[in-house]
Amino acid sequence: MLDHLSYTAPQPKVIAGAKGDWELVIGLEVHAQVASNAKLFSGASTGFGAEPNSNVAFVDAAMPGMLPVINEFCVAQAVRTGLGLKAKINLRSAFDRKNYFYPDLPQGYQISQLYHPIVGEGEVIVDMGPGIARRVRIERIHLEQDAGKSIHDMDPNMSFVDLNRTGVALMEIVSRPDIRGPEEAAAYVGKLRQIMRYLGTCDGNMQNGNLRADVNVSVCPPGAYERYQETQDFSHLGTRCEIKNMNSLRFIQAAIDFEARRQIAILEDGGAVVQETRLYDPDKGETRSMRSKEEAHDYRYFPDPDLLPLEIEQAWVDGIGASMPELPDEKKARFVKVMSLSEYDAGVLTAEVENADYFEAVAQGRDGKQAANWVINELFGRLNKEGLTIQTSPVSAAQLGGVIDLIARGDISGKIAKDLFEILWLEGGDPADIVESRGMKQVTDLGAIEKAVDEIIAANPAQVEKARANPKLAGWFVGQVLKATGGKANPAAVNELVAKKLGG
Ligand code: ADP
Ligand code: MG
Repeated sequence: MLDHLSYTAPQPKVIAGAKGDWELVIGLEVHAQVASNAKLFSGASTGFGAEPNSNVAFVDAAMPGMLPVINEFCVAQAVRTGLGLKAKINLRSAFDRKNYFYPDLPQGYQISQLYHPIVGEGEVIVDMGPGIARRVRIERIHLEQDAGKSIHDMDPNMSFVDLNRTGVALMEIVSRPDIRGPEEAAAYVGKLRQIMRYLGTCDGNMQNGNLRADVNVSVCPPGAYERYQETQDFSHLGTRCEIKNMNSLRFIQAAIDFEARRQIAILEDGGAVVQETRLYDPDKGETRSMRSKEEAHDYRYFPDPDLLPLEIEQAWVDGIGASMPELPDEKKARFVKVMSLSEYDAGVLTAEVENADYFEAVAQGRDGKQAANWVINELFGRLNKEGLTIQTSPVSAAQLGGVIDLIARGDISGKIAKDLFEILWLEGGDPADIVESRGMKQVTDLGAIEKAVDEIIAANPAQVEKARANPKLAGWFVGQVLKATGGKANPAAVNELVAKKLGG
């Protein structure tokens, strides 16, 4: 395995208040829905968009006497995620009941892991540009159940409850307060999403609520965060507010910015920030108070008597470890070091694992940089323009590889290759066959090229005089010959012949 690329930390975001500068400190609690067909403690389906209340087992509906049975696959997914975040896996963890009332929570409590989470400390490297990255420490990941959904906008007088989501497995990924600005917070969530999609442990579909974040924000004067880092003493940091349930990277950034400025205004006014839970209103672009910060004892947490502590074996964890895919950081480093790509290009190509796979299929046995250029500039450019993805690309990796082979063999020029790409995009087919059947092959027949050069020279005596006086003008003849041959003449041969004829 290759080391990560070396990087330096970005500057923290500084906001100038009326009286001085302030820095941001952010910690995230990300709720990631475990990619699993069945729920955490029942066999009910997790399928999205099903008829309301159709994916509900008796245990999800909290029918009397029903007992939860842990889904081994969900546990394996949490372990796999932990390993992907270079985290400590706890061989013994335990489930607790977090008691509260909500209409979409029929049990009257959520089964979670407060005291003994399944995953301990890890880390995420958050890329903020070539050579710049922030290391964000992970405090823990615990498994818990999702709640159902209350629907308030279907009827003017009534609310409805849909329990399809009740009991779906979530991983709560808790970061240390190591994130130092709105862009970093968004990039952090993006990186978690990327890693989990590589691992296949979370689909990361933020619109469907598959990935949501509670965002904790505080502000402090410059220098305070460094003292926190040295001592790990939270008293150096400001009081935080938690913005609940954010499911858009854009809104996360806007909410943090608003919240930081709100806190700065309070502090500069001589007031104190009250620790509380807030909600972001995207229409107004502001956060507002939802409830004062609750403490663990408010929930009367206690070990769930229906579930034994969860004990897993190191050999089982090792088995999961042995089946880990190459992760984004490693893939990116390999593309840079082994394939000589720029860090930027490697970042683009590894953003989604499907894109990376496609690129590797194109690059296999070919020049990596050339393959990267074609995939990024021609293919991704076109896919973006047409609103398509690599999965719906009309041009396959084998076809694009075929185009590059034809260039490498000197059969077609770069310009003709773009025409060929266009044909493949619209009509499909085999690149070599198309070149053959449509007469697109580059002319390397020197006799034919010479004939074209002679004709152009004969037809333009005035240009010939000028070009003999100023050799830089020879390019005009090259252009004319290429035009006359429909771009098929081998440019190197044309250059050479034009120089020879004009010189003589
Ligand atoms: P709780 O259990 O009350 O939610 P935690 O200590 O688990 O509190 O912290 C929750 C989140 O808040 C973590 O992601 C943590 O990094 C973050 N956090 C803690 N202190 C601060 C702070 N001063 N500023 C910003 N984020 C913070
Ligand atoms: Mg919390």
